Amino acid sequence: MKAFQYSRVDTVEAAIGAATASSRFLGGGTNLVDLMKDGVETPDTLIDVTRLPLADIAPLPNGGLRVGATARNSDTADHPLVRQHYPLLAQAILAGASPQLRNMATNGGNLMQRTRCPYFMDPGFRQCNKRLPGSGCDARDGLDRNHAVLGYSAACIATHPSDMCVALLALDATIRVRGPQGERMIPMGEFHRLPGDTPQFDTTLQPGELILSIDLPPSSFARHYRYLKVRDRHSYDFALVSVAAALDVEGGRIRAARVALGGVAHKPWRAPAAEALLQGQPPDQGLFRRAARQAFADARPLSHNGYKIPLGQEAIVTALQDALA
Ligand code: SF4
Repeated sequence: MKAFQYSRVDTVEAAIGAATASSRFLGGGTNLVDLMKDGVETPDTLIDVTRLPLADIAPLPNGGLRVGATARNSDTADHPLVRQHYPLLAQAILAGASPQLRNMATNGGNLMQRTRCPYFMDPGFRQCNKRLPGSGCDARDGLDRNHAVLGYSAACIATHPSDMCVALLALDATIRVRGPQGERMIPMGEFHRLPGDTPQFDTTLQPGELILSIDLPPSSFARHYRYLKVRDRHSYDFALVSVAAALDVEGGRIRAARVALGGVAHKPWRAPAAEALLQGQPPDQGLFRRAARQAFADARPLSHNGYKIPLGQEAIVTALQDALA
């Protein structure tokens, strides 16, 4: 591992003031430190933000919930307000990683997770536009079984690894950040990027910006929800495909629906056309199948991952059925 400086800060202002182009904020370190050991990330300085007063989980005046950036994933999933009002989020967090990792990982760090594309994580592979911009993409002519079927570009076909973020997208979360230019709110759907020509940038964060909290709006999806994760190894693995499904049902009709997908694109992927198809309809299997087909209407399979389309469609149908039940 390359030598680096470690500094611990006590205030948000100190953290932002200490940030440079070659520093990284350190949360639980469950992804960043692994990447440093492998020589993928080579920061000069780690700024430990885990002592900042950003771990609270508390109601917002509008009836929503503010979840602190440095709260641990386990504490978030176990929090009574999360379990009562946002059980989809709790279910998604508990589908990710292992208990030990969730005890360490912070919510901010989860948002900043990097892809598990094997060509990115191993510097032995020379071509990776995300790790070495302009070098090419070894995955394009390699094993692309776990790669994207939606929204990818010629420069990068990687997928986003987080489960938590898929639920946050379905729940219309907003990410509160502060940087040298002040504080701003980023809708979850705009926080992560599609790769385009610049896959080295995973998010729309500006230099020096620090995640303060995840703000959740009031939710009507606490009764009918399901986070369904399909993976090669059930005990501990990243998603081949995952689905965050939520329904607001009244009088035998779907008043509102949410469908978000993981494991299929460079960012958590919302399916608004599928949601629109569900809205206002009486729920049944045929409707769920039409919505599932709609969610993958723009999918473009690569050499080895065509299976993700029927798998994802079946996962959506099952998740919606489970949510309804
Ligand atoms: Fe790198 Fe993206 Fe290609 Fe993977 S898919 S090798 S992360 S450029």
